[in-house]
Amino acid sequence: MGILVQKFGGTSVADAEKIMAAARRAILAQRQGRQVVMVVSAMGHTTDHLVDLARQITSDPPAREMDMLLSTGEQVSVALMAMAIHSLGHKAISFTGGQLGIRTDSMHTKARIRSISTDRIRAALEEGCIVIAAGFQGVSDTADITTLGRGGSDTTAVALAAALHAEQCEIYTDVDGVYTTDPRLVPEARRMTRIGYDEMLELATAGAGVMHNRSIEFAKRFSVPVHVRSSFSDSEGTVISWLPESRAVPVCGAALIQKEARLTVRGVPDRPGAAAAIFTRLAGRNIPTDMIVQNVATDGRADISFTVFQEELPAALRIVEAVGKELGVEEVGYDENVAKASVVGLGMARQAGVAEKLFASLAEKGINILMITTSEIKISVLVDRGQGVEALRTAHAAFRLDQPPPPTPDESVPEANGKNDRERIIGRLHGMEDLVIESIALDETQGRVTIGDIPDRPGLAAKLFQQVSRAGVNVDMIVQSVGRDGKAAMSFTMPQESYEAALETARRFSREIGAAAPSGERQVAKLSVSGTGLKSHVSVAARAFRALAEAGVNVEMISTSEVRLNVVVRGDEGRRAAETLRREFQEELI
Ligand code: ADP
Ligand code: ASP
Ligand code: MG
Repeated sequence: MGILVQKFGGTSVADAEKIMAAARRAILAQRQGRQVVMVVSAMGHTTDHLVDLARQITSDPPAREMDMLLSTGEQVSVALMAMAIHSLGHKAISFTGGQLGIRTDSMHTKARIRSISTDRIRAALEEGCIVIAAGFQGVSDTADITTLGRGGSDTTAVALAAALHAEQCEIYTDVDGVYTTDPRLVPEARRMTRIGYDEMLELATAGAGVMHNRSIEFAKRFSVPVHVRSSFSDSEGTVISWLPESRAVPVCGAALIQKEARLTVRGVPDRPGAAAAIFTRLAGRNIPTDMIVQNVATDGRADISFTVFQEELPAALRIVEAVGKELGVEEVGYDENVAKASVVGLGMARQAGVAEKLFASLAEKGINILMITTSEIKISVLVDRGQGVEALRTAHAAFRLDQPPPPTPDESVPEANGKNDRERIIGRLHGMEDLVIESIALDETQGRVTIGDIPDRPGLAAKLFQQVSRAGVNVDMIVQSVGRDGKAAMSFTMPQESYEAALETARRFSREIGAAAPSGERQVAKLSVSGTGLKSHVSVAARAFRALAEAGVNVEMISTSEVRLNVVVRGDEGRRAAETLRREFQEELI
């Protein structure tokens, strides 16, 4: 008999009536011949209230006690759900994370799942019970209660589905599927019927709160089909699964993180090891860094900008100021009023002009871009927080995401891909959420152009990339950040054969707008580390920086996404850099 995991989010169990409705859904699925495991969140806004309560006591609660507190929310709902199913005449049993056998590391409030023992669940299922699992929690080796991070019940659900080899994991929530963007922010957003793991992973990390990003890592790693549906209707929802890469649309969705903060470290001595020192210390404190832009130094010193979640800013600042002193940097600045908008799509890797289109649409609305980073399937821009939602709406409209995409010729799903790999991957993992690296590739076919001292005003990125594209240059990676005196610096890569055209265009552009004369290299080396969890494992970028620094290789450009880390170094250092990264990530390479 097949196993079905059904997860009910906070709004779906917000009161007694909704709990009864969820119980009926589970009973129906059991009647249809499935063994059912329900994963339940805390009721309504319970977790928020608990967080508030703790803050009323202290601004800095011990993480262990925070987990003790937060885990109670889910304990209430599983008990009530089991009672609901009993009252309807069916067998049910509730379990906490610890009782379920969900073992995690001891990183309180952001713990990762190491293993799940399914014996107790299977025994209860065999007895005909509906098993009701508390979401979002586990237990560490020292028998302390841990939680998986806000929104973590999705991760419990998909992880259980993976461990139990369930047919499917259903996520019941207050929207009827995954939309092209948050429908609360953009009413024109459209529901997607299907989305691929990588696209969903990038969207989730970029701010699409409908799914916890780590749940999608599990789904991809163990090939679990996830079906996102409404608790309150029977509409068909969205299936998250393997999708053919041949999808025609360059952009499938957009997302926004409203509460980001930017830190800029100015005047970092331009020697290998400086950036590594900063990111290693941040990673050591488990602070995720997001957009990282390091501008190629002009006067022997570099500027490094990166973003963190706003709530992490005070801790990040303390660390960066301390490291900055040791390194002898000129200044550490920050801006806590920024938001990050991203567009995501598997198709953008094969289509030119996506970045240009995004920049042009933002320019038209007078939205100034403070930072840019791009990866193969994602472009992110940092803007003033007050313009965040407008930037999201503008991006959504620019790629006509409100319109159904044209039908693609081959929608057959290469399911076997993942399925065949599944057992092999499980066999290699020490912990279920371990970092997995699939490949480390070296691309020596590109060149780089950098323009410094670009006046900080809307429309310049749009103008530059319009001119570059008119010159027939296909741009690959782009990074931009605000450097000294509020002026921006921009670097981009292109195929070597277009290097001269790109440099010439950049020269003309710089003269026109009064920026510094561009510099560049005809041949750079781009290294791409591909895998899963590259971003949620916060130390990946730091490890790359450190390993390269120790090998004496300077990082010129970097971009990080969930599925790929790209690093650009000098052309003659490519091979050494590749070997260094292979050595650094040898344990995780499958
Ligand atoms: P739950 O409590 O069920 O886990 P969440 O609040 O975590 O529910 O997630 C559902 C919410 O996610 C929706 O109400 C919606 O506002 C938001 N959301 C953000 N991005 C998207 C998106 N791309 N598609 C659908 N919903 C989204
Ligand atoms: N109750 C937790 C939260 O609100 C976990 C979850 O609902 O997914 O973050
Ligand atoms: Mg959620």
